[in-house]
Amino acid sequence: MIHRDEMDTYLKGLLAVDRFRDYGPNGLQVEGKPEVRTLVSGVTASLALIEAAIDAGADAILVHHGLFWRGQDGRVVGWMKKRLHRLLAADVNLYAYHLPLDAHAELGNNAQLGHRLGLNIESRFGEQDLGCLGTPAQPLTLAALSTLLQARLSRSPVVVEGDGRPIRRVAWCTGGAQGYFEAAIAAGADAFVTGEISEPQAHYARETGVAYLACGHHATERFGAPAVAAHVASHFGIEHRFIDVDNPA
Ligand SMILES: [Zn+2]
Repeated sequence: MIHRDEMDTYLKGLLAVDRFRDYGPNGLQVEGKPEVRTLVSGVTASLALIEAAIDAGADAILVHHGLFWRGQDGRVVGWMKKRLHRLLAADVNLYAYHLPLDAHAELGNNAQLGHRLGLNIESRFGEQDLGCLGTPAQPLTLAALSTLLQARLSRSPVVVEGDGRPIRRVAWCTGGAQGYFEAAIAAGADAFVTGEISEPQAHYARETGVAYLACGHHATERFGAPAVAAHVASHFGIEHRFIDVDNPA
């Protein structure tokens, strides 16, 4: 058993929360019962995840995408009311870690995705150093990298071919990191792996020769929250379960 505030403090230090400028509050977003014995992790604090976690007996939920974001109008209506009502009625704590959970050197979304691709983080690039660069054991063809991603993420990426060069340096950043593509090109990448693509990046890939692989926002961010939650659970001797709510985006 761990007290909710102790867990908040521990995670704040583990994930170096204070180092990041973020789009929402990191840490305990919704206060529930004081004692945490069962922790459920998931990607997003959706109603489906909240309900599944409550059914699983969660005292706390740890997610990458929490409830509160810059730009919201602050009203508790519609989907926000439903999610908050379920959490508060069940007295369940909600912890959310956005950029700190992407960035952690071992447990973060980027490190965990790299690990599954056989890539260590050798250097970082882009705003707040969230982008990662690594070298495959052997140069890859684009087809081989695409096949590897499909195998690890269970969905086929959207691929924009570059100039067909062997891929010696891979840049990656999970989630909606299409805005990091130009920094990845400048950092010397032969291919860029992320979750999403927007219209301009297809042209940048064709014009710079750097291949672009969009592998799904949710699909690329499924590994960090359970890695952090499993670490916390073993550290404090509490139960943990990851619940994946599938998302085609
Ligand atoms: Zn995300």
